[in-house]
Amino acid sequence: GSLLVARDLRKSYGPTAALDGAAFSVHPGEVVAVMGPSGSGKSTLLHCLAGIVRPDSGSITYAGRELTTLSDSERSALRRGEFGFVFQFGQLVPELTCVENVALPLRLNGTPRKEAERAALTWMERLEVDDLRRKRPGEVSGGQGQRVAVARALVTGPRVVFADEPTGALDSLNGERVMELLTDAARSTDAAVVLVTHEARVAAWSDREIVVRDGRSRDMERSA
Ligand code: ADP
Ligand code: ADP
Repeated sequence: GSLLVARDLRKSYGPTAALDGAAFSVHPGEVVAVMGPSGSGKSTLLHCLAGIVRPDSGSITYAGRELTTLSDSERSALRRGEFGFVFQFGQLVPELTCVENVALPLRLNGTPRKEAERAALTWMERLEVDDLRRKRPGEVSGGQGQRVAVARALVTGPRVVFADEPTGALDSLNGERVMELLTDAARSTDAAVVLVTHEARVAAWSDREIVVRDGRSRDMERSA
């Protein structure tokens, strides 16, 4: 069955209806692309699904639990324990080395340093960035930095990975590589991926597309 399901989500900012009855679902191991023009509500949908923004109304169930009625601390515990995040840029801590960045979510969950860095290196090998372990984010390329960020999103073994324009700052070759590694890694761990993008080439890596327009969503069958 579905891992994460949203129904009839509504969220307004003052007079602006960012979400106006949006729906969503994703299965374990499935990669869903959320597409649509700028300002259509994609980020707001992702933030609601991830428990970062509380919708004004509607329901979101994760593994059978209603998210919208959880307290802030319950939602942040769920985010730390079950979800991973990849953003467009600016997500790595510049003062930390790459391996320390990847290990950070485990360190924040209380994992001892050696164990956390061992797990981090395993993911960095999968993302082909283990040779960058001692470098700081400022010393690596954009594509390498995004692969480090993907390793960090996966290091806790999340059930859902939220990726908001993860290739938005990359050229197409690096973008393709990041998408290939991200989708392979997620499928191999049976994690669901919620991918926000406005690029068809990036959405082509998904199993299914949801198109958001004016805060409403439509489920599209893959044509290819
Ligand atoms: P997208 O990700 O598709 O570009 P967003 O979800 O960011 O769309 O935004 C949808 C609409 O809601 C836009 O009109 C945007 O300006 C507005 N919006 C989003 N977040 C906020 C916010 N925190 N405060 C005010 N308006 C917001
Ligand atoms: P994205 O490109 O991912 O949609 P945005 O630039 O739309 O990013 O939004 C970045 C952050 O600013 C988000 O947290 C979003 O909720 C918020 N935001 C978006 N639009 C507005 C707005 N009109 N007023 C205030 N905050 C906004």
